[in-house]
Amino acid sequence: MSYIDNPLTEYAEQHTSGESEVLQELRKECYEHYEDSAMLSGFYQGRVLAMISKMIRPRVVLEIGTYLGYSALCFAEGLSEGGKIITLDVNEETNKVARSFAAKTKYAGQIDFRLGPATEIIPTLNEVIDLVFIDADKPNYSNYYNLVFDKLRPDGFIIADNVLWSGKVLEAEKDENTQALHDFSEMVLADKRVSNVLLPIRDGLMVVTKDRG
Ligand code: SAH
Ligand code: CA
Repeated sequence: MSYIDNPLTEYAEQHTSGESEVLQELRKECYEHYEDSAMLSGFYQGRVLAMISKMIRPRVVLEIGTYLGYSALCFAEGLSEGGKIITLDVNEETNKVARSFAAKTKYAGQIDFRLGPATEIIPTLNEVIDLVFIDADKPNYSNYYNLVFDKLRPDGFIIADNVLWSGKVLEAEKDENTQALHDFSEMVLADKRVSNVLLPIRDGLMVVTKDRG
């Protein structure tokens, strides 16, 4: 994995607030027992997501791709009073672990874990959403964007992870995931209803806001 890396990255991490003990424990569990641990947001990105959530103070967050619940717990830190996170995943086993870690936090009652394909669950949601985090299967990124768009409030935000795909988006020959991520970024850029900025943090965070028009 070749994320954006330079000596200043380490300096930035060292000068960033620490995470909770539960989040620390969750990362340890992940790195020790899961081969696909690179999917977890990680310390620095987790702090960025928590900070973004604290800036927005969302009432409703929709997360597409729970994994072990690390990013959901980061977003939970910024929820407004009575706010909630709906988080979707297809993997029953990782979902159990995610629930057990969330249960150790004060956010337990605010995270609604739903199991099933996101393309099937999203159309059933009636909530007005303040913030969407797209982080599941890459070929569906554009579908997720289109499915959530009308449920997002004006001035709401969509954040999509891994849009730099370890730098592969620059390659001429793109595999399926790379092409899908590139197509997604091109689609967002061309969408006149939104403004966006691609933050070169970790593996790339696409931040989009729905303009009032
Ligand atoms: N957001 C997490 C990481 C998510 S990893 C974090 O930052 O810590 C991506 C997750 O997407 C995996 O757990 C995978 O099971 C899930 N996923 C893959 N395809 C999916 C689908 N069609 N619907 C919902 N979730 C899916
Ligand atoms: Ca990710």
